[in-house]
Amino acid sequence: MVMHAADLQVRQKAQKEMIDRLKVDLDCRDVVARDLGAARQRGAYRQYKCPFHDDSSPSLTVWAVGWKCYGCGRSGDVIAWVQAYHNLYLSKALEYLNGAAVELPKREQSPATAKELAPPPKEWQAAANDVANYAFDQLWGPGGKGARRYLTEQRGLDETTISGAMLGYVPGAPDEWRTVAGMHVPAGIVIPWLVEGELWQVKVRRAAGKPKYLGVTGGVAAGLYGVDEIDPRGIVMIVEGEIDALSVNQERVGIRAVALGMAVKQFDSHWMQKLLFAERIYARLDRNAAGVAGVARLLEISRRVMPVQVDEPYDDCNDFAVRDRQGFRAWLKGLL
Ligand SMILES: [Zn+2]
Repeated sequence: MVMHAADLQVRQKAQKEMIDRLKVDLDCRDVVARDLGAARQRGAYRQYKCPFHDDSSPSLTVWAVGWKCYGCGRSGDVIAWVQAYHNLYLSKALEYLNGAAVELPKREQSPATAKELAPPPKEWQAAANDVANYAFDQLWGPGGKGARRYLTEQRGLDETTISGAMLGYVPGAPDEWRTVAGMHVPAGIVIPWLVEGELWQVKVRRAAGKPKYLGVTGGVAAGLYGVDEIDPRGIVMIVEGEIDALSVNQERVGIRAVALGMAVKQFDSHWMQKLLFAERIYARLDRNAAGVAGVARLLEISRRVMPVQVDEPYDDCNDFAVRDRQGFRAWLKGLL
């Protein structure tokens, strides 16, 4: 078959568009990580021993849109990486990257969302840690009996789960506030957010008042609750609330849950990097409009997210677990 010049132009145009799209969609760091694994991290950069020359120190630096070896001088974009590392023609490299694009999260585009995500300052964390310790002692002290009963009977959490999550209790009337370690804290169940060894926030579930959940002022809400405990290559479930995550995790069926604990639109897609090598990523969000929009947003960040829903008539994972623990367990096992 003879190819006409016009056909060739069409193909060239299509290929050019594909190249542009892949360069925009893919984060070079994710693509290189598929080949070289975990890296030494320096801020936005990843450093590896270069596979193209006999490298004694990590000379290869990779960032969102490119890579360069300071030893042998090779460099390029994400497409050049795949061509060089896998020894592929351009068309084969594009095929490979189209496949990779299905699995990898989309690269952060806007500078506004790409701003560095950081936990609160050390001084805040020290005070918040005192609050969490105080609340922990209160929960397990004589005054915490009612709160413990609430967590075990009404929320179905085992004592191991409660203490493992370092949950606590600030005593007081439903709308009361206390000053603990110099911080203004509402009365209620205290949920500390330890992420990567840092205390990002301390949330309190109040017995009454709106909103039901409040963060102690100064905390950073854009974390991902429970992310430290996931198996990087295991099955992960993204849920809305912290207690939902605890309900899933206490069943120990081989699915670890992480909680957004906030509106999905605030979710920082940086956290999706932590789920990069997960075998599967489920998302269980509410059936309401916010939940539907949330799932859409998660799918925008990663096309690997698989929406799932709890059985009727239950509202969420915790509600399911409390009202039918055997059924909840069976539902989880069905997702393995
Ligand atoms: Zn090199």
